[in-house]
Amino acid sequence: MRIEEELKLDFQDVLIRPKRSTLTSRSDVDISRDFVFRHSGRRYHGVPIIAANMDTVGSFEMARALDRHQLATALHKHYDEAALVAFFQALPASSTVFYSMGITREDYQKFRRVKEVAGDAIACVCVDVANGYTKSFIDFLQRLRTGYPNITIMAGNVVTGEMAEELILDGADIVKVGIGPGSVCTTRKMTGIGYPQLSAIIECADAAHGLGGLICADGGCTSPGDLAKAFGGGADFVMLGGMLAGHDECMGAVVEQDGAKKLRFYGMSSRAAMDLHSGGVANYRAAEGKEVLLDPRGPVDGTVQEILGGVRSACTYVGAHKLRELSKRTTFIRVARQLNEVFGQS
Ligand code: 5GP
Repeated sequence: MRIEEELKLDFQDVLIRPKRSTLTSRSDVDISRDFVFRHSGRRYHGVPIIAANMDTVGSFEMARALDRHQLATALHKHYDEAALVAFFQALPASSTVFYSMGITREDYQKFRRVKEVAGDAIACVCVDVANGYTKSFIDFLQRLRTGYPNITIMAGNVVTGEMAEELILDGADIVKVGIGPGSVCTTRKMTGIGYPQLSAIIECADAAHGLGGLICADGGCTSPGDLAKAFGGGADFVMLGGMLAGHDECMGAVVEQDGAKKLRFYGMSSRAAMDLHSGGVANYRAAEGKEVLLDPRGPVDGTVQEILGGVRSACTYVGAHKLRELSKRTTFIRVARQLNEVFGQS
């Protein structure tokens, strides 16, 4: 047993210090980014926020709605092949939509079939597992990269610099960072495993950027300010589940509670998801996600405006004309946290 004494931080542990600025208006801030991906060589232009590949968030409808704002979507992996082909073939070339998959043989075969028909319309793939530290995950990533040298691969999830480096060397263009911070995730409670998300972002970004790779901060954002902190900490992309859940574009089934209409939102490792997609929770495992009922929030456009407005405003407070400059201009201030906040977290 070993104890690491170095302090690790979550979003709630810091604020961003304001800095002198020559910006006169929030509208002067450019929150889009341009990247050339390390392995695929493809160019990216857009607002680097991605809807999570959860079946209540990463829907076709969400992808179309977010695309209007230049945001990206990672589709959930439960669509059938014909629907995926039709969707990707109708997608404008400028859109960023990730085809998502796990690492089973069936996942790979399904992807091969869909890609064969959809062709270059599928340019980005998200390969994710709860624990990106396994050899089988690395083997899968290497195989995918060898088979598809020109696709952009986002892979995860990990939380440490050495593993971010490993994934980039194995073929990932973007490393997905986050174990345990998700709004409907119970991994920290169920297993004791996790890593404070802001520190994971800072450490993984540093490691990935050193190799010309990128990271996507995945999980734990509950407000636009958290996105600003993630970008300030070095995240190139930020993935959102809960903040985009409960909208018209979400697939969550509508239920009634005390006469009020609610939308289901659940973790992809929750009992609800496993009942729906895997015929229940296997007897050797426990659910590591939960279900919540949300008040319907209407179209996602309003929420997107709010998120983009918050990030733009954060840039003006530190004098960043472009989102690209936010990290360089970020100084985090550590703030004291109430004990009940710490222990109230999942
Ligand atoms: P949020 O933005 O809601 O805080 O976090 C979204 C992220 O939570 C997802 O992108 C995914 O990485 C993670 N997640 C989704 N469902 C589950 C689950 O059932 N268990 C765990 N451990 N994480 C989940």
